[in-house]
Order: sequence, then structure tokens, then C-alpha cells
Amino acid sequence: MDVIELFPRLHLLRFPVGQAYLWHDDGELTLVDAGPPGSGAPIAEAVTALGMHPRDVRRIVLTHFHEDHAGGAAEFAVLSGAEVLVHRLDAPFVRGEAPGPQPVFEEWERPLHEQAVRLLPAGDVIRPREVTEVSDGDVLDLGGGARIVHVPGHTHGSIALHLPRHGVLFTGDTVAASPVDGAVMPGVFNLDRAQVLAACLRLAGLDPDVACFGHGAPVTAQAGRALRRSAHGWPA
Ligand SMILES: [Zn+2]
Ligand SMILES: [Zn+2]
Repeated sequence: MDVIELFPRLHLLRFPVGQAYLWHDDGELTLVDAGPPGSGAPIAEAVTALGMHPRDVRRIVLTHFHEDHAGGAAEFAVLSGAEVLVHRLDAPFVRGEAPGPQPVFEEWERPLHEQAVRLLPAGDVIRPREVTEVSDGDVLDLGGGARIVHVPGHTHGSIALHLPRHGVLFTGDTVAASPVDGAVMPGVFNLDRAQVLAACLRLAGLDPDVACFGHGAPVTAQAGRALRRSAHGWPA
């Protein structure tokens, strides 16, 4: 796992598949997404390397239930005591009460998905004992007030997390940056592509400076523009 400082308050954690972020408030941390299964211990090591203690991580906000984002949540919750938060529509899948719905694949997405699945560790995912369900408009006590933005489409319970005071937006997989050229586009492996485009527009309307994606390099200035372009759709 790679740890990259984006800003003094914001670190990117990069896994073989997917990414998570650590947000620093004074004396406490928030983890946004938790990587694939097996990520709990590496995240704890990263927190320690930053001079903090895993117990300083108060909460883990999951942008959606997919394994490359939620897979490490229970492991890290055990190590840190952090609360796990997820949208109520994705909560049953994070708790393991039911298998999450499979994406509606475009033909061109299938080989990409097979590739991603091969990079995920085999075996059962450890499930968090408790999750806190969140809804659109909820405000969390971090970053001077962080708003939950419900953006269904990638999954029914996908959320973005908006920190207006810092101009920072965590998009989850609703938006992604191309690993090839960094172009910002809607995410792949969705349940409803029309909803994803509407979500991109809604997120563009928040006009953040910084956008942190579930996959691909974050945009660290004038991110609202890049988000508006993403709402035009997937590259042909
Ligand atoms: Zn993902
Ligand atoms: Zn996803």
C-alpha cells in the first residue's frame, strides 16, 4: 500500500485495487473507505507512521459496499475502535446480510472487471459488528462539518462526502480518473448509468477545489470543472 500526502490534512492510501483517504482534524482522523480485505493492518501501520495512533481514527466512512472499499473496514474497526458509517441502502451488504447486487456491465467493462477481481484477495470478508446508517444531508463532525451526499447509480447506497469549508469532495466510485491519462470520467461497474451521470452533475454543482476518487489520481485544484466534464459521459 502506498501513502501519498495530498495536503497536510489529507493523505491518499493506494491499494492494489482502489484507494482510501485519511482526513486529519486536530487530534483526530477520519478514514474514507478502507480498501480491500487485508487492508486493516497496513492502514494501522500508515496511521502510526504519520505519528498518530489507530485509536485516533474516530470513524470510517464507506462510500459504498463494494469489496475494494468496504473489505478492510471491519479489520480496521477492530484495530482502532472506529465507527463504521455507510448509507442505509448499502448497509445490509456491508453487514453481510445479503450479497450486494452485481453491476450491469457494458461489454467493454467485463475484461476490466475480471482484471480487478483477480487483484482482490480470495477468501471471506470479515464483516463489521456494527454499522451506523447515514442518509442524504446528514452532517458529520469532521472537517468543520462534512455533508453526506446520496448519489445512487454506482450502487443504490453510494455516497459522496463534501467538506465545504475545505473545498474537498470524496466522490467514491461515482467519478474516477483514468489510469492512462488522468481524464476525469464517470466510474465503471454501475447499477444505473443514467443515475451516475445525474450524480456527476450534482457533484459538479458543489464546485469543490479538490476531488478524491475511488480510483485514479485526485484532482487538487478547480475540481468542479473536471466534474462537469465527467457528466458528459464515458469516453467512446
Ligand atoms: Zn471501487
Ligand atoms: Zn465500486
